[in-house]
Amino acid sequence: VPSDANQLLFCNGSVFDGLRFRPPGTTVRVSGGKITDVGPGLAAGRADIVDLNGGTLLPGFIDAHVHPVFAGDQLRRCDLTSATTLAGYLDLIAAYDRAHPGDGWVTGGGWSMEAFPGGVPSAADLDAVIPGRPVYLPNRDGHGAWVNSLALRLAGIDAATLDPADGRIERNAAGEPVGMLQEGATSLVSRLIPATSDADWYAALLAGQARLLSFGITGWQDAIVGHAHGSGDPLRAYLRAARDGSLLANVVGALWWDRDRGLEQLPELLHRRSSGREGRFRPASVKMMLDGVAENHTAAMLEPYLDSAGCQTDVDGLDFIDPDRLAQYVTVLDHEGFQVHFHALGDRAVRLALDAVAAARRVNGDTGNRHHLAHLQVVHPDDVARFAEVSATANIQPLWAAHEPQMDELTIPFLGARRAGWQYPFRSLLAAGAQLCAGSDWPVSSPDPLLGAHVAVTRTAPGGGGADSPGPFLPEQCLDLASILAAYTTGSARVNGLEAVTGAVRPGLDADFAVVDADLSVIAPHEIGASAVRQTWIRGQVVHESGRAA
Ligand SMILES: [Zn+2]
Repeated sequence: VPSDANQLLFCNGSVFDGLRFRPPGTTVRVSGGKITDVGPGLAAGRADIVDLNGGTLLPGFIDAHVHPVFAGDQLRRCDLTSATTLAGYLDLIAAYDRAHPGDGWVTGGGWSMEAFPGGVPSAADLDAVIPGRPVYLPNRDGHGAWVNSLALRLAGIDAATLDPADGRIERNAAGEPVGMLQEGATSLVSRLIPATSDADWYAALLAGQARLLSFGITGWQDAIVGHAHGSGDPLRAYLRAARDGSLLANVVGALWWDRDRGLEQLPELLHRRSSGREGRFRPASVKMMLDGVAENHTAAMLEPYLDSAGCQTDVDGLDFIDPDRLAQYVTVLDHEGFQVHFHALGDRAVRLALDAVAAARRVNGDTGNRHHLAHLQVVHPDDVARFAEVSATANIQPLWAAHEPQMDELTIPFLGARRAGWQYPFRSLLAAGAQLCAGSDWPVSSPDPLLGAHVAVTRTAPGGGGADSPGPFLPEQCLDLASILAAYTTGSARVNGLEAVTGAVRPGLDADFAVVDADLSVIAPHEIGASAVRQTWIRGQVVHESGRAA
């Protein structure tokens, strides 16, 4: 029988269907880009055989919190993610300056706070490498930026400049700015940077998509679509790519809630949702950033942070959105059919988000909107069961739940032992009936879902766990492999409202697959991070194959 290019039969590997591993010998038939049959020993007939070679077929991963356009833009600029030390960063910055000479801004970023004492780098180090052109380099989590003296001068920032309400200018003992801006203070400089052109944003989106496809990611939720603290707006890039067919992934956009305004921005959000829907892109979510991050003490905590001597301070983090109005905002957004995607990191932010969802449910009933809370670094034990009660999804970034300098030196001492034990409580959430979805927050951390799965299962950083390692981080919160893979596929498809389209290996769904080179059904936990995606399929077509350029 001649083969039919429209028909494929995947065999000779393990199959994870989005919830569980299927029995050995399971095969998957695809026709016309859709899954038509899943079962043991299906006959090939006219289908082309795809040999899984003892690896694993999974639904394409769906990253429920990621910034592919900003990440792709960073890849095309001064990208610092490959270094880990001050000397390494300065080498990359000097090399970028040589390769892109001129007097324009040097931007990009991706440095890590743990490379600097107290997480604070200095303008003087940058000045030594680049004195003559302004430099603005956000750190890996995007909550702060390293700037040189020329950038400070152009922005008019000096000892007399007051901190903005939503941020902080790091200073020396004399009150002079040292070259690090936290949170909202970054926009004092970022607003001076020439806007990125539409053509550059489009190229950034395609660069970001190519990188995500190489990790088996076939869909995502873009966690900021809008002008967040001076950043660009990726909306037009998505529309162009959706129209010209170059957007291959299924994407939900989370429209940025401007924290300086209230409900007067609702008409704008409604307009952006209705006019911004095109092909595989749907801006159906609203992103509300409730707080900052723990490392710079801007995550909103129920009790204050400790100082380096373990004594209580009067700093308990920031509420970026007025807590007295949050429930009203969320109730109105829920009524308008928006999903709300919260950035909630500290235990006060988590509680405020759950309270707001509960208020919306009381007024509106169950609208079916799948509100979700991302990051969940510190969750008060009283709030763990409330996720299921108010039907809020826990959007986890598993890669962060490990002992690393950022955790051990910049976080645990300032939370204290009791609260440090409430971090990233994935297993408790699952046991309490919470729906889970998963994401990477790339470019904050690697987009590789297998690295995320490695940490979720072992609570140990990939490559960690040696003789001198600190051991697993809160090992009682380990997930089993099927649970984290389910969060990264079925769970994220559900939060994107796409469970009838993708996210599972089930007849009727699109043939969106990640093929991993190892048999994940029998893999030793500490080897998960060493496995890799060999092939990525979307609607029955190969869109990435390892060894070929992305
Ligand atoms: Zn994010």
